[in-house]
Amino acid sequence: MKSDLLTDLGQRLVSESLTSRALAAETDAGPHVSILPEANVLKIGGQSIIDRGRAALFPIVDEIVKNLGRHKMILGTGAGTRARHAYSVGIDLGMPTGVLSVLGTFVSMQNARMLHYLLAKHGVPFIEPAQFPQLPLYLAERDAAIFFGMPPYTFWQQNAPIGRIPPHRTDTGSYLVAEVFGARSMIYVKDEDGLFTADPKKDKGAKHIRSITTAELRALDLGDVVLERAVLDLLDRAKHCKSVRVINGLVPSNITRALEGEDVGTLITGSAT
Ligand code: ADP
Ligand code: MG
Repeated sequence: MKSDLLTDLGQRLVSESLTSRALAAETDAGPHVSILPEANVLKIGGQSIIDRGRAALFPIVDEIVKNLGRHKMILGTGAGTRARHAYSVGIDLGMPTGVLSVLGTFVSMQNARMLHYLLAKHGVPFIEPAQFPQLPLYLAERDAAIFFGMPPYTFWQQNAPIGRIPPHRTDTGSYLVAEVFGARSMIYVKDEDGLFTADPKKDKGAKHIRSITTAELRALDLGDVVLERAVLDLLDRAKHCKSVRVINGLVPSNITRALEGEDVGTLITGSAT
C-alpha cells in the first residue's frame, strides 16, 4: 500500500513487520498525551485495609470524602484474604494461573462494590472496564470513581516466573490505569509506612526506606516487598507514571498529605532502561 496520506512512519508500519526492533523504536519518537493529568489513582489495599473492616476503612472513606472538591481520585481496590483462600482452593483443585486470575478478579470486584456503597451517597460511581469511557465525566462531575484493581486479563493472565499465583494483580491493574491515563500520581494505601528492608510484620528490626529506584531495589534482592514485583518492571517502561508512592492508610491524613504531594511513606521510582 502506497499513499501520500501516510507519514514516513505510516509507510513503514503498513509495509514492514511489527516485530522489527528498528521499527518499534521509531514508534516512540512522538509525544505521549496525558489523558487525565489531574487525576490521582489510589489503590485501597485488600488485605492491608479493606479486610480490617470499618476500623480501617471508615476513616479512609471520610478522608476520601474530605478530598472531593480538592482532588480527582480514581479509586482501585485490592482483593485480599478471600482471594488468597480462593487461590488455595483453586491450587488444590489443579486450576491454572488464568483461572486463579478469574477468581481474584471477582474478589477485588466485591471490595470495589462495598467501597462504592460506602461512597454512593456522595455520588461516586463504580465502573467496570467497559465503562472507562465515562470516567472523565465522572471525575469532572463527582471528582472520584471506583474500579476493581485486577487488570481484566482473566484467563489471558500470563504465568508468573515462579509459582502459580497471577503475577498481575491489583497493584499492577491500578498502576496501569495511572500509566495509561497519564495520571498525576499513583498512591498505594496499605497498612505499613511504605517499603522496609524486610516485612515489618515479621522483622521488628526492618528499616524504613523513604525513596528508592527499582534498580536499587533489585540490587537489595529483598525476600519480600510491599508491592507486586510486576509493578517494578512496569515502572522501568513508564511513559507517564515514573514513580509510585506507598503510604500507611491507617495513619490519619496520610492520604491527604500524599494527594498534596508531600513526601510521606515511600517513593519508588523506575530506572528507565
Ligand atoms: P494489599 O492489601 O494492597 O494487597 P499486601 O498485603 O499484598 O497489600 O502487601 C502489603 C504488605 O506487604 C504489608 O502489609 C507488609 O506486611 C508486607 N510486606 C512484605 N514485605 C515488605 C517490605 N519489604 N516492606 C514493607 N512491607 C512488606
Ligand atoms: Mg497484595
